[in-house]
Amino acid sequence: MNFNELQLHPLILRAITEDGYEHPTPIQARAIPPLMDGNDLLGSAQTGTGKTAAFALPMIHRFAQMPNKGRAKVISGLVLAPTRELALQIKDNFDRYDRKTHVKALAIYGGTSKHNQIVKIKRGVDVLIATPGRLLDLMQMRVVKLDHVQMAVLDEADQMLDMGFIDDVKKIMKSLPNTRQTMLFSATIPKPIERLAQSLLKSPIRIEVAPQNRPLETIDQEVFMLRRENKKALLTDLLKPNQFSSALIFARTKRGADHLAHYLKKKGYFSGAYHGDKSQRERERVLNAFKAKKIHVLIATDVAARGIDIDQLSHVINYDMPETKETYMHRIGRTARAGATGRAWSFCSPEERHLLSAIQQHIGFKLPQNLDHAYVIPANQAWDKGSAKSQPKKKKPYGSRHKNKSRSYQKSFKPKTHKYA
Ligand code: AMP
Repeated sequence: MNFNELQLHPLILRAITEDGYEHPTPIQARAIPPLMDGNDLLGSAQTGTGKTAAFALPMIHRFAQMPNKGRAKVISGLVLAPTRELALQIKDNFDRYDRKTHVKALAIYGGTSKHNQIVKIKRGVDVLIATPGRLLDLMQMRVVKLDHVQMAVLDEADQMLDMGFIDDVKKIMKSLPNTRQTMLFSATIPKPIERLAQSLLKSPIRIEVAPQNRPLETIDQEVFMLRRENKKALLTDLLKPNQFSSALIFARTKRGADHLAHYLKKKGYFSGAYHGDKSQRERERVLNAFKAKKIHVLIATDVAARGIDIDQLSHVINYDMPETKETYMHRIGRTARAGATGRAWSFCSPEERHLLSAIQQHIGFKLPQNLDHAYVIPANQAWDKGSAKSQPKKKKPYGSRHKNKSRSYQKSFKPKTHKYA
């Protein structure tokens, strides 16, 4: 299928063609036609599948047909997102797709002054992209009115639930006209999301792409078993200059992320930390520097990293193992976006083996173990004795491995498709 067949507004088609979109991704091919016909939708899709365009294009398509001249802009589309990062990300996408039309999108979120947002809302907006808390604030102040909303989207509903936003979401959705069209997207559809969907959607079309227990096949996943105290040293071994283009590293805590960023800086890497204790301005600065490849290593916590969308991210590194299988899926979904290939490396210490077990059970296979590093835990201490056949392995200095470039060494350390920074 190509985009022409979807009968999108010609100005949208021109914008996405210029952006190099040739074919709709599976979720776009399946969601856009029923959405253009006015159906409600319940979508289960991983991040990186192109789900933003799946809801943004039909919205822009509809609003681009509304007259522009002689009409005061009213909020006709609403997108709710759990974090400001995701809200900004969605707004970026809207700006790209609607840039040739008169449709105007605005993102509002907490942690920054209301004043500028209010001024922009008063100038007129077609699509409002919002985090629930800030939206409720502005609704209470009567700055935002939602009684003309025709299309509403709830994005990453499972994250809304995790973050305790569900009551806010319900309150907001109650203030929308009953005649609206509603779309709900979630990486997973646990029972509470199912119930929420039942209360908000009318006879929805259900679409599931890339089943949630099968990680995107374009991601090369590996696990490194090692002691916690060796993680930093392994990281510096792996992040040798010219071996990666950009790496997103996940740390469990904000302090841990800061600590690691500081350590890598001292080692001479252009690195930055990205988490909830940083000001909005600081986060934007670091993220822009990372996108522009001025910073090559970004250390983030999970909540902050939701919605980060970076082209050509070559590596995701789980410095600390993710606490849940869903988090693992979200993290590794940051690489290999829209068809590119990427690598996901997980550092697993003995204390974290149960987390690895849960992930492997979820994805249905054992993650290949990388045995070609200096900190491999000896076989008699390894948890997975079966897969550690080629052990025991003595700790070797990095240089000696480097001289002896085995095939597996080359496989492990060379990114496959990305140009080096
Ligand atoms: P999403 O899952 O919406 O976060 O999208 C992931 C990435 O895929 C974003 O960088 C989009 O710009 C990109 N993308 C979305 N749809 C397409 C498409 N049809 N062709 C190429 N890239 C796309």
